[in-house]
Amino acid sequence: MLKSLTHSLLNFIFPPFCASCHQKILQSGSGLICEACWDSLERWGAQSCQRCGQKLAAVPEAQEPLLCPSCRIPDWACSDIRAIGPFKAPLADAIHLLKYSDRRSVVKKLSHFMEQSLAEVAHYREADLILAVPLHPARKRERGYNQAQLLAQALGKTWNKLCPENIISRARHTQTQTKLNRQQRLENVKDIFTVKKPELVKGKSVILIDDVLTTGATIGSCAGKLLEAGASKVLALTAAAAPLD
Ligand SMILES: [Zn+2]
Ligand SMILES: [Zn+2]
Repeated sequence: MLKSLTHSLLNFIFPPFCASCHQKILQSGSGLICEACWDSLERWGAQSCQRCGQKLAAVPEAQEPLLCPSCRIPDWACSDIRAIGPFKAPLADAIHLLKYSDRRSVVKKLSHFMEQSLAEVAHYREADLILAVPLHPARKRERGYNQAQLLAQALGKTWNKLCPENIISRARHTQTQTKLNRQQRLENVKDIFTVKKPELVKGKSVILIDDVLTTGATIGSCAGKLLEAGASKVLALTAAAAPLD
């Protein structure tokens, strides 16, 4: 009580600044991103490429990734991909906060937008399990939590679905892959994931969550292992997607 009172008083005397537009946040309750920035968030519709945002003339079959021909990832293990919108301000700032501070309010907002982006997408709602792409244990220790797991849990709560942790393990952390070519990216993430409890994914459709879709190689590698372990399909869901170079 005293702590929250002190907090409110401090906010009153020194209002925090929005991590995206850097204006003073006068209305509390939305964390370190102001309501105006949250409201301005660019979102992709259910008919747009989930990586570059261009409107698709023909929406692919229900179980194909919603990506335009130039954003397609050949032989991808994920049956579909959905993201809120492009990895740029204010969404990119929100994801930064999610990883480095203020995670509580950001998880609430992001999971809400992720849920909204799937409003008309029935096959996600019918999935059996929600799993997060794991962090390497050392990275998780350093941060104290896996940001993707927090998003998975928030969605699991909303949809009343199980989101067990520790089903997949990660052997190492991969540095940013954007400078590698496609073949190198695939090599780099090959076999970094292991499904430790295959009996829990066998025959199940899985929503696989990560914070950002970058090249798609990491989430694809993780999805591939889930399919090998017997999952019936894997649907990718990220907060944001970065354009391919
Ligand atoms: Zn702002
Ligand atoms: Zn595209």
